[in-house]
Amino acid sequence: MPDFQSILEIIQQDAINALDKGSVATYIPELAHIDINNFGIHLRTSDGNDYGIGDYNKPFSIQSISKVLALAKAMALIGEDTWKRIDVEPSGHPFNQLALLEIENGIPRNPFINSGAIVIADILVSNLKNPKKDFLNYVRDLTGDDNINFNIDVAHSEKITGFKNFAAANLLKSFKNLNNPVEEVLDFYFHQCAIEMTCEQLTKAFFFLANKGTCMLNKTRLSKPQAKRINALMLTCGFYDEAGEFAFEVGLPGKSGVGGGIVALLPDNYIITTWAPGLNKKGNSKLGMLALEEFTSKTKLSVF
Ligand code: GLN
Repeated sequence: MPDFQSILEIIQQDAINALDKGSVATYIPELAHIDINNFGIHLRTSDGNDYGIGDYNKPFSIQSISKVLALAKAMALIGEDTWKRIDVEPSGHPFNQLALLEIENGIPRNPFINSGAIVIADILVSNLKNPKKDFLNYVRDLTGDDNINFNIDVAHSEKITGFKNFAAANLLKSFKNLNNPVEEVLDFYFHQCAIEMTCEQLTKAFFFLANKGTCMLNKTRLSKPQAKRINALMLTCGFYDEAGEFAFEVGLPGKSGVGGGIVALLPDNYIITTWAPGLNKKGNSKLGMLALEEFTSKTKLSVF
């Protein structure tokens, strides 16, 4: 077994020394003042050992990482019907690109680009009694931690600047792939993205995907084939037009968010979450990707 703690220490040192840390997302104004020097990693092995380094216990905006948990909830609610409204192909384009959606008649390429995540949000708004409250409780339950909340300022900040997400939702509506009002679906979507969690909480929340659908509290949240499908989607689509690069360099299913977080996992082995708020040009955490590349190279633990 590799010496995980010393490997995390080396990775942290390399991150501290990195000359180019990327740049913090500014298109959501409330995220613009996060200190770029934050850096944390949390690792949990399937046999129950935890390792943490740096700021792994500081909450941050999970942003698009939430799309995985929203998809899991939608699949648990409506199963295969999910795929009548969303495809499962990598888009090869940025997360907020709209051209493909128009060309492909309102069927988003996958559930992790924004248009796909907005369709998932629509499914949750239709199928949950109190969508925001119920989804937050779902995330708390997966994590086994009630101390997880929305950051209302981040949700509001995105609402007043989210012109492309409004454009995507309106386009979906024009193709009849949105059943609820645009305002209502986006209010839910902005809140799901504005959930704040620590690296450690995210690692726990994603445990079920590395554990055949059974969560930390030993409850079945998805079937084994459903967990397999989500992992396949994370591997092929989790990093938008950088999904190939992430598979090439890191070799794990994973999902990034513009808050600078990345969760990645090796089924039946481990879950790892990194947080480094500086992003590269594709909107993925620059040092997070480097850290994970270093981690799978040093431990030789990837899917390939
Ligand atoms: N809330 C963000 C948006 O919709 C999520 C994007 C991301 O994390 N890639 O633009």
